[in-house]
Amino acid sequence: MFTEKTMTDYRGFDFFKLDTFMTDQQKAVRQRVQDYVQQTVLPNINSYWDKAEFPREIAMGLKDLNIIGGLIRGYGSAGLDPLEMGLVMYELSKGDGSICTFFGVHSGLAMGSIGLLGSDEQRERWLPAMSRLEKIGAFGLTEPTQGSDAVNIKTTARKDGDDYILNGAKRWIGNASIADLLIIWGRDEDGAFGGWVIENPKAVEGLEIVDITGKIGKRAILNADIRLTNVRVPAANRLAKPRSFKDAGKVLGLGRYGVAWEAAGVAAGAFELALDYAKKREQFGKPIAANQLIQQKLVEMATEVSTMQLICFQMAQLLGSGQINEGVSSMAKYNNARKARYVTQLARETMGGNGLLIENHVARLMMDAEIIYTYEGTNEINLLLVGRELTGINAIT
Ligand SMILES: Cc1cc2nc3c(=O)[nH]c(=O)nc-3n(C[C@H](O)[C@H](O)[C@H](O)COP(=O)(O)OP(=O)(O)OC[C@H]3O[C@@H](n4cnc5c(N)ncnc54)[C@H](O)[C@@H]3O)c2cc1C
Repeated sequence: MFTEKTMTDYRGFDFFKLDTFMTDQQKAVRQRVQDYVQQTVLPNINSYWDKAEFPREIAMGLKDLNIIGGLIRGYGSAGLDPLEMGLVMYELSKGDGSICTFFGVHSGLAMGSIGLLGSDEQRERWLPAMSRLEKIGAFGLTEPTQGSDAVNIKTTARKDGDDYILNGAKRWIGNASIADLLIIWGRDEDGAFGGWVIENPKAVEGLEIVDITGKIGKRAILNADIRLTNVRVPAANRLAKPRSFKDAGKVLGLGRYGVAWEAAGVAAGAFELALDYAKKREQFGKPIAANQLIQQKLVEMATEVSTMQLICFQMAQLLGSGQINEGVSSMAKYNNARKARYVTQLARETMGGNGLLIENHVARLMMDAEIIYTYEGTNEINLLLVGRELTGINAIT
């Protein structure tokens, strides 16, 4: 009844053989990303991470993988199915969180906002160049005083002839200092929520973008503080559809879908490194993997990674069949982000002192997991979103 081998042909941990439920096309997408990670990301990323520099050339390599734009169909975008999209996040994150976030912000949050909430004309105008990575996108929602409480953002947009005048501040905005298209969320004079696309932000008067320094995870993607002082944006650049926070929430919900996969990927990456290390590293005349205490850690990690993979796989089916809701993506993000923290720490400690050196990758993955825990809704906020789904009672505000 049981076969001897527990791993599939897939070059990675897959205890429950999810691989056997994937189409050749899904496997091909995953393979492309895995090869890129092995050949381009892993040999080069550590020095960028160490110096907190964005690896532009490495990131530009993503355009050759036919994954940009993710789920978006048309406009030169990849038009991936939900499982392919999840596998892309998983494989990128297994290699490096900064590259994964660069992709997630550009392709998911920025292109996703235009794809889901823009008019046909706006999609035609911006998405093709973004699909080719000729224009990089950023997504500015969070503010210095409005993090979890983003529904009450303070940025204002006042109509002035054919333009809007934007005032306010944004914080933590990924890709902002390299962006060609910066989406700024705010409220108009009527209090309606809106997203304004600022083109070529570096050349725009009144817009100040300053990279945040001293970040302890995902150090190879830059996040910025932004100040907007009477920034003039053409009215045609207001995204056509959004009028309430719920509209932006549609983009964030899909973002959580991707981040749940990302969390599974970072945990799997750390576990695979620790398993390999434990089989090779000898102490007391035998591999450390021969110790029950080490096997306990390995089994604990393997079980958590498998649980995350199963959740993600089923979530992809729900997204594909139109049955996903906020509770599902929030629960997946909540579970996977906290388990990713746990697994990456177990992996790090399994590798002893060597686990503390970035040359062995696991420490970098451990710090990436800290960021995953906090962004796309902190884990507390995602917990409360699930609580609201279960009880019908909002305990967030
Ligand atoms: C590396 C990084 C990249 C990011 N990229 C982007 C980006 O590209 N664009 C963007 O718009 N934003 C981005 N963010 C912002 C991110 O979404 C916010 O950091 C996040 O929403 C939390 O906000 P905060 O950091 O202000 O924490 P706060 O909201 O101040 O929360 C502090 C603590 O209080 C808890 N808390 C808050 N409210 C409640 C409550 N009601 N009940 C229980 N606990 C609560 C939180 O869970 C947390 O533990 C990024 C953040 C990071 C760290």
